[in-house]
Amino acid sequence: MLIPKTHPKAASLYIREKLVKGYRSGLVIEEGLMAHGRGEAFDYLIGEKTSKNALRALKEAAKLLLLAKSPVISVNGNVASLCPKEIVKLAKVVNAKIEVNLFYASEKRKKTIAGFLKRNGAKQILGVDPRFSRKIPRLDSARRIVDKRGIFSADVVLVPLEDGDRTIALKKLGKKVITFDLNPLSRTAQAADITIVDNVVRGMRILIEMSMKLKKKKLVADKFNNKKNLSQALVEMNNNLRRISYA
Ligand code: ATP
Ligand code: MG
Repeated sequence: MLIPKTHPKAASLYIREKLVKGYRSGLVIEEGLMAHGRGEAFDYLIGEKTSKNALRALKEAAKLLLLAKSPVISVNGNVASLCPKEIVKLAKVVNAKIEVNLFYASEKRKKTIAGFLKRNGAKQILGVDPRFSRKIPRLDSARRIVDKRGIFSADVVLVPLEDGDRTIALKKLGKKVITFDLNPLSRTAQAADITIVDNVVRGMRILIEMSMKLKKKKLVADKFNNKKNLSQALVEMNNNLRRISYA
């Protein structure tokens, strides 16, 4: 599909095209397309731009990743399709491992995603070699498999666009969890230590820039109140709706 640059929703349509391409090449599944639609609806409410509260969360996330001993970026089909180069770049800047971890697990799709990330510059992708599989306790079936060298032994995990059950399971394992989630009401958004309420496509770029800047400084993690930041995300959405409805 050819999207004219002048189309009022061009940015959103480009993102959608990336996901459709990902679907056609076996990275994304139908459920992923639906999850994206849910994200788009919330993106409308935040005005399709990075908000102040997202910037606050992004800065804390950059610090936490830089201060971590063994950070891991967990990648699913949607995230891989939307920002493969950014995942690789962020992993380099904060010295994180990359692990493919799927809610709807399939060995074939895992390999497709790993291959796609490698073509985008990744050296090593965890989560695809069954010899290193470990199970997260109290989560059912395929959803609980993680890599011994990656998420299993990580202290900080970035899980963009993740499901609530898994986020809660990671928290129970004692991990610090950072997420990108456009829905401040999702269980993931509510359970994470740092929730970045922004489109992962916009936010990842900012996270890379902030990490590069902060890397040169002496860092101390601040006390970050995620619940408060999430309420501010809701207030901002509410203000946007009010402004539009009273215009
Ligand atoms: P939860 O399981 O956390 O309660 P859910 O079941 O509503 O959430 P999932 O499909 O499990 O949703 O997770 C996907 C999440 O990712 C959704 O909250 C959706 O709003 C969000 N999302 C989708 N696309 C994007 C995107 N491009 N950027 C940021 N967030 C997104
Ligand atoms: Mg879910």
